Amino acid sequence: MRVVRTIADLRALLRPLREEGKRIGFVPTMGFLHEGHGALIRQSAARCDATVVSIFVNPTQFGPAEDMANYPRDLERDQNLCLEADASVLFLPEVSEIYPTGFQTHVEPGRLAEPLCGRFRPGHFRGVATVVAKLFNMVQPDLAFFGQKDFQQTVVIRRMARDLNLPVDVVVVPTIREADGLALSSRNTYLDEDARRRALCLSEGLLAAKAAFDAGERSAVKLLEIARSPLAGVDSVQYLELVDVQNLEPIQGPVDRTAALCVAAYVGSTRLIDNVVLAPSALDASLNMSLSPQSA
Ligand code: AMP
Repeated sequence: MRVVRTIADLRALLRPLREEGKRIGFVPTMGFLHEGHGALIRQSAARCDATVVSIFVNPTQFGPAEDMANYPRDLERDQNLCLEADASVLFLPEVSEIYPTGFQTHVEPGRLAEPLCGRFRPGHFRGVATVVAKLFNMVQPDLAFFGQKDFQQTVVIRRMARDLNLPVDVVVVPTIREADGLALSSRNTYLDEDARRRALCLSEGLLAAKAAFDAGERSAVKLLEIARSPLAGVDSVQYLELVDVQNLEPIQGPVDRTAALCVAAYVGSTRLIDNVVLAPSALDASLNMSLSPQSA
């Protein structure tokens, strides 16, 4: 595995691979890697000839009151995980490499960035879309891998790739969970014992609602009720919503199309998000099937 820190070195490394017709996979991350990231890297390594992983804590996607400065870091552990998961290139740019003095051009996502996390993190998806577009242009991947854990992000990025004609296939990888259901997240490291226990309320509700859905329950109201009842254990709920996976509009009445049940909540001072996809047809159960090509 090669480690590069500049865009010039990254391009020099990838050019000959591309000229040989090699398929390049890309996994953008903010580091402090866990098996969720591992699943993305492994899937890329299985489907591509070379996999680039980036670690970049992107300042433009953090709000002024958010945890950018304290975002957890452990480069040595990250390098080992990348190596074990079969990454070929690890890209570790400095902030000044990505945003040199004078930087002033952004990608402005549209309506898909407004609901859910967009309501509580103004500017977040603009920051995400901008850095991902830039990273796509640096890596020029054939395939890029994103986790379903950040469901709205996958929808915004896929829309951006289509709208800007970026020649990359966006692949969504299912959420990796701990044995007890908690979705893996770099931010789980902030949770003490009590908070870790209470954090389970998110996945408990979502997985119970999914089980009810799989057993035939189709009422949006009932499914939301099931997901909400364990949430008494968290400190505050930002949102719990059942939305159409195509347009992120709330689903009322019966769930007759593929939906995502999404939650964001605070446990102590840690903000956690999670979601499950509810697909009336088994054919649509993967987000890759549900989001394309209908949403083109
Ligand atoms: P982050 O480092 O948090 O920016 O995440 C980098 C990528 O890993 C994003 O595409 C995330 O959606 C994905 N990811 C994070 N946690 C998980 C998880 N538990 N399962 C699958 N993918 C994940």
